Amino acid sequence: MDRQDDRAPSRREALGMLGAGAAVMAAGAANAQAPTFPKGAVIRTILKDYAPEELAGGASLFHEHMSMRQGFMVDWTRYAAETRTANRVPNAPPPAAPAGRAGPPPAPAPTAGPPPNPDFMLDEAIVTEEMAAAKREGIGCIVDAGHPDMGRDVAFLRRISQRSGLPIVASAGFYTQPFYPADIGSWSEDRVFEAVMKQVRANPTGALGEIGSWDYITKDERKVFRAIGRVHKATNVPIFTHTGIPGKSALEQLDILEDAGVDPKRVVIGHLGNLADPNTEIQRAIIRRGAFIGFDRQGGQGDASVVPMVVSLVAQGYADHLMFASDFSSPRDLKKNGGAGYAKTLTVFVPKLKAAGVPDEALHRIMVDNPRRFLAFVPKIKRTA
Ligand SMILES: [Zn+2]
Repeated sequence: MDRQDDRAPSRREALGMLGAGAAVMAAGAANAQAPTFPKGAVIRTILKDYAPEELAGGASLFHEHMSMRQGFMVDWTRYAAETRTANRVPNAPPPAAPAGRAGPPPAPAPTAGPPPNPDFMLDEAIVTEEMAAAKREGIGCIVDAGHPDMGRDVAFLRRISQRSGLPIVASAGFYTQPFYPADIGSWSEDRVFEAVMKQVRANPTGALGEIGSWDYITKDERKVFRAIGRVHKATNVPIFTHTGIPGKSALEQLDILEDAGVDPKRVVIGHLGNLADPNTEIQRAIIRRGAFIGFDRQGGQGDASVVPMVVSLVAQGYADHLMFASDFSSPRDLKKNGGAGYAKTLTVFVPKLKAAGVPDEALHRIMVDNPRRFLAFVPKIKRTA
């Protein structure tokens, strides 16, 4: 590659590569009303705090994964299979295929060579390259949804952000019951609160997420949600959640956070694309209370059932409550393995919505404005580094 090819593409060139995603961002920028932000609000990335206006030039992805410990996804897939088996109702018809990350990846084609490495998130060169590609394709900021119980490595995130030039938001919290510390059942709510506050103080933290219930929400998970609500009150850091398939305990998650004093506007209830419902009952119930809903496993096979739900919700005037991402975790989706890469929400999913008639202006709001409205907060804790 010569020097000419090696340089970063200009914004115009980047938009040119993007097709429908770029058209959305350009057209939307021209006629959308710019969002407003509270005075003093920042988007806190691992390297620096941004004024929200500074990140208006690209799409932001609120729920992805760039750093996980070795074997995390193998464990995840095993627990998911065990949960599906435990939930199987005798003689019931087989469940509809849920959207996105739902089970083991499909077997590779016989000619595909060695299987891709599931632990690619330990490879700094690979993830840096994938971040740089996402930036070229129009991503302006990306949130890593991991924290210590997922083996997220903050120093790794810092280096891939520095090397790729893509702003990365690091998160804090606890994930779900199977991944909690083994003795969490004996912890008080105060102890959970202090443990998360310690994480927030240790690293620049731009989100509390992904905070989850693995299946039907458990007693320990409710305790974590209550503690997270208190951390939010102490820090103003926004919250995004993980729900079990299909959207189990979504309303209860919001109930607990609201009862802890959290304004639903500061919350995304996640993985609601897994709840394929043409009437979007649960999604609308959450939206009406003021929260965002996450269609956050997009850019792949889960899109088919989500596109009509987005069309319907946008037509009802709910675009301001939708948040899209891909929950990136499969090595098959890497550019280097022939996949669509970390920008697939923008480059694969958004064009499907555009083709289904969702206006550019709404798509621009969802991809560029909503994540900044969600991520921007007035810090109560000074950044540490
Ligand atoms: Zn995730």
